[in-house]
Amino acid sequence: MSLIRELHRQLTRKERSAVEITQEALERIQSLEPKLHSFLYVTADHALEQARKVDAKIAAGEEISPLAGIPIGIKDNMCTKGIPTTCGSRILENFVPPYESAVTEKLTAAGAVMVGKTNLDEFAMGSSTENSAFQVTANPWDLERVPGGSSGGSAAAVASGECVVALGSDTGGSIRQPASLCGIVGMKPTYGLVSRYGLVAYASSLDQIGPFGRTVEDAAILLGAIAGHDSRDATSLKVSIPDYASALKPDLKPRRKLKIGVIQETFGQGLDPTVEATVTKAVEQLQTLGAEIQVVSCPQFRYGLPTYYIIAPSEASANLARYDGVKYGFRTQNPDNLLSMYTETRAQGFGAEVKRRIMIGTYTLSAGYYDAYYLKAQKVRTLIKQDFEQAFEKVDILVCPTSPTTAFKAGDKTADPLSMYLNDLMTIPVNLAGLPALSLPCGFDDQGLPIGLQLIGNVLREDLLLEVAYCYEQSTSWHQRSPQL
Ligand code: GLN
Repeated sequence: MSLIRELHRQLTRKERSAVEITQEALERIQSLEPKLHSFLYVTADHALEQARKVDAKIAAGEEISPLAGIPIGIKDNMCTKGIPTTCGSRILENFVPPYESAVTEKLTAAGAVMVGKTNLDEFAMGSSTENSAFQVTANPWDLERVPGGSSGGSAAAVASGECVVALGSDTGGSIRQPASLCGIVGMKPTYGLVSRYGLVAYASSLDQIGPFGRTVEDAAILLGAIAGHDSRDATSLKVSIPDYASALKPDLKPRRKLKIGVIQETFGQGLDPTVEATVTKAVEQLQTLGAEIQVVSCPQFRYGLPTYYIIAPSEASANLARYDGVKYGFRTQNPDNLLSMYTETRAQGFGAEVKRRIMIGTYTLSAGYYDAYYLKAQKVRTLIKQDFEQAFEKVDILVCPTSPTTAFKAGDKTADPLSMYLNDLMTIPVNLAGLPALSLPCGFDDQGLPIGLQLIGNVLREDLLLEVAYCYEQSTSWHQRSPQL
């Protein structure tokens, strides 16, 4: 059952008001935040004001959109006018944007109620939300474990019911991996489907905003609300947006034989055996639902990680050059001269992981190494994209695990960046190719931790991805489980 639809029904039947729903969410946030730390900033006044507007519309007999009155969390790397936007970084600790991001503008117009800005790895760099300069978010299923990252705050907030849906951003897996580790649905759309205007840039050729929800239908409704062309984003696609949510049907059968490809390279070494067994079962379930299953090979898949860790830091080093203590954000106190103002501001304002990436990126873009690293990585990126193109000549959808393991303990991987990077082995190639993909719950391990199934679609096939995900979800009960908090 879609939570959005259920609340919408209650609102339009006047069983509950938007203010009541908002107050309930704010109370839940207040009671759970001491344990979870999902939010960097709770926007209670803003939320209640927005809810009152929705109630006034309902009272006046006006029609309201499905998202009107729905509590939503926004990852704190999307600009919100007059409301702090920190990116989880000291360097933007006191930054209050003078403008609104395209996605939050659309959500406000739809009447959605933003209850707060969610925690993230600093500048969206990380896989556990431990790189936030301000707090560590806990996984609602086991408070000693990480929620994944970098959109861990949004994922934990949705999984725990602090809000109904949330937005995240995904550069190499930051929506899908936390969705997987928190047992919810998370989707990264085709590159260019959702405007990046007002999203603080990490790696611009990979960044994409997308929805989190407890159910596929909720994610579909939210995607429909944020997708669409925006002239303020030069990479925004001029395409019409289908009504993703209304097209969902609980049955694969009436359609022509759907072909699903299992990516061979994602199984075996490095994959947790329980995750492997669970995902294999989910694939069998898809077959039972009427899909034809094939094994496909994407031989370049394994080069995704090294390619990403050249391209993403290269772009990050350029994007993060703007934080120099001059224009906005943090500035060091009493520097000796102009140069030390720059260097000390950056030394004190950025955390270790961000500095590591800036250094890698500066190195790979430097004159003597550009061809050997950056250019080479771009060529491999093309090969990875071609792998997917060939696979989609044979099948409609690709499947693989979202993450090689379930949620790990906080602190377990912080000392070893490489083992942290390996979390995104299966999500990164999708960003390099600009494709849409989603993660949805497909089971639990013996410790009760959620496992995610990743579905990857061809360019702009969000509709098909959501349809298949919905059929699978409706034939299982994983999404009905909630963490005990
Ligand atoms: N974990 C990856 C990284 O650290 C991906 C992050 C993301 O998608 N924003 O870069």
